[in-house]
Amino acid sequence: MLRYHYFSLALLALSLSLSQSAKAELSEHLKEQIGLNDMESFHRTTPGPFVEKDVSYEDYNYKLFEDNADPNLEKKVKAVKKAIRMLIDKHIMPPDGLQIYLTNNYETQNRAFERDEHWNPVALITLGPNALEGGRLDALSSTKSHFFLSKATITTIHEIGHILHERNAGDSFWDGSFKSKAQNAGSVSGYASMNKKEFVAEVFAGVVIGMRFPRDVFTEYEALQGPTLPPKLIRIKHE
Ligand SMILES: [Zn+2]
Repeated sequence: MLRYHYFSLALLALSLSLSQSAKAELSEHLKEQIGLNDMESFHRTTPGPFVEKDVSYEDYNYKLFEDNADPNLEKKVKAVKKAIRMLIDKHIMPPDGLQIYLTNNYETQNRAFERDEHWNPVALITLGPNALEGGRLDALSSTKSHFFLSKATITTIHEIGHILHERNAGDSFWDGSFKSKAQNAGSVSGYASMNKKEFVAEVFAGVVIGMRFPRDVFTEYEALQGPTLPPKLIRIKHE
């Protein structure tokens, strides 16, 4: 029994040191696998055809990929432009090389992709049939109190939040560190309770649309390496 106990302690120590070295740097194999999976899923669910458009606001340039078969295309374009304007007006720089794909293809999710198969940073966002309505009703993007903003605007900000989070957190974004539930998710939204990545993206979107959160939310957001927020935007909700 005692011997077994020591043995399991040794195993525990070994697995702890392994997970720490895994944290320090993701293996090349894992990077390749993640990038391959993500790009495969991007190409499969976002087939096009698309019309490519260059858009700029202030000094910021990005690309829209428009599917003319999408009956909500015009509304989505408006919503995305509004999201980019809001971010830049609030001094938050969206990611370099941003490409946003707008389509009604049934398989397309509202989703962000951050790395390609060569582990190069990419900033791809897909807005599918659930961009304007449907999807998770407990996400901030479905919040009724922000009726003056479209769900697609808030969703775009949320997805940009994921990309900026990945840029900030580096490899730890991919090593499983963010799979568990954030402690303060309950103060943010139902969807924020999914995991720490969703918590960060929901707080980010909430702050950009002007919401207040308890101080603990911001403390946890910072500990999780959420995208840097201009101090002016941090509004504490006193409970
Ligand atoms: Zn998300």
